[in-house]
Amino acid sequence: MGETIFDKNTNLSEVNFIAKPKVPLEDFPVELSRSQLPLPSLGELDVIRHYSNLAKDNLSVDTNFYPLGSCTMKYNPKLNEAVACLDGFCDIHPYQDQDLIQGSLELMYNLQNLLCQITGMEHFTLQPSSGAHGELAGMLMIRKYHDIAGNQKEEVIVPDSAHGTNPATVSMCGYKTIVVESGSDGLIDIEKLRLAVNEKTAAIMLTNPNTLGLFEEDILEIAQIIHDKDGFLYYDGANFNALLGIVKPSLMGFDVIHLNLHKTFSTPHGCGGPGAGVVGVGKRLADFLPSPIVSKRENYYLNYQIKHSIGRLRTFYGSFSVLVRAYAYILRLGRDGLLNVSHNAIINANYIKEKLKNYYNLPFPKRCMHEVVFSCSKQKEKGALALDIAKRLMDYGIHPPTMYFPLIVAEALMVEATETESKYTLDNFIDAMIAIDKEISLDLQILKNAPNNTCTKRVDEVRAARFPDLRWQESGD
Ligand SMILES: *Cc1c(COP(=O)(O)O)cnc(C)c1O
Repeated sequence: MGETIFDKNTNLSEVNFIAKPKVPLEDFPVELSRSQLPLPSLGELDVIRHYSNLAKDNLSVDTNFYPLGSCTMKYNPKLNEAVACLDGFCDIHPYQDQDLIQGSLELMYNLQNLLCQITGMEHFTLQPSSGAHGELAGMLMIRKYHDIAGNQKEEVIVPDSAHGTNPATVSMCGYKTIVVESGSDGLIDIEKLRLAVNEKTAAIMLTNPNTLGLFEEDILEIAQIIHDKDGFLYYDGANFNALLGIVKPSLMGFDVIHLNLHKTFSTPHGCGGPGAGVVGVGKRLADFLPSPIVSKRENYYLNYQIKHSIGRLRTFYGSFSVLVRAYAYILRLGRDGLLNVSHNAIINANYIKEKLKNYYNLPFPKRCMHEVVFSCSKQKEKGALALDIAKRLMDYGIHPPTMYFPLIVAEALMVEATETESKYTLDNFIDAMIAIDKEISLDLQILKNAPNNTCTKRVDEVRAARFPDLRWQESGD
């Protein structure tokens, strides 16, 4: 343990079970020969052990509770992996003739329609690769609409609790972000919103429930204020597991929305793996969708005839295997199953909130939706930061929650259990959080040094990002 695979290099050709290549060795380019490349030489079993042991050092959804707020690190049924791996889906090529991939086009067409039913939007594009990419698609459509209409728009409203990608998207589309402060209840302050909105307002970008996990109750009034100025409501639906089957964004007045299939609809994510930030629009923006979308006459086909299309957003048609997983997930659960997802996500978050509110500060004590935000301000007075508590959770075998976000909560810990966790797991987490709170008075140092039981100890996070050293260090410094 503790070595890289290069350290384990035996320089011996040990037992391997791979057949000898059929190409004569002398036909290989010399620069690709083993003697020319700095590759370690190990037997197959040694390689398997090396990587299996490395994997054991990870905290992952499949091994540990992973309550990372705003990220929805839920369990993704393996059934959907199996479906995505079917030969008919894996072995097609995007340049194949459309007649030969009718099944895959049908899947995309049906998925577009299911997402329309779930959200109440009129059309969907499956192209964007991530939530941020979906935001870019949505805001580019809004921009083009205003440009064609000759509207002099310059600004986009973003609440101060927003996800960082929202203001980033606004800048990328050439607009200016106007921040609106939340009220003391954690919701948008309507009076402040009125003051911020004017003829130059192109849109508002909103998450509902917002990043505090609270439902914006005044959403219809907000929609009215924005629509009165010919602005658009953009819905950041990255975390949609609070609303499935309960509320449609179209009914809240949203004109364009993105969903993260990789958060809500069953694709494992993190580390930048393939995702899908699909985007839905209402009537006003239908002519602006990225092209192509999948349409149907007698057959399914890729439709490039979109009047004011913002154009293509990426190669081919999106992360196809992510779309397959989402389709399988939706069909497997059905309407009642999707509703259950949201009910369970909400009840799990509220259970944690109620059980921990006497130990950790709850800055906004309203009933929450799929996630709950605590402040460790009381713990800070006793010397423990949210960071220390998050790190100490790893010693209890729990992945840390999201920390210091949303920015408007001091010492924030943002907890999202997700719908897939059992009461047993929630109770285990609650017990750990209470135990850690007690430890602050008993043994503060154990928190300050945490994590104590993991292979990597407390790292200098800035340094870790700037000068990554991927070698194992026994001392952990
Ligand atoms: C995750 C998330 C995003 C960004 O999604 P990516 O796929 O990471 O680009 C945007 N908004 C919210 C609220 C999110 O939670």
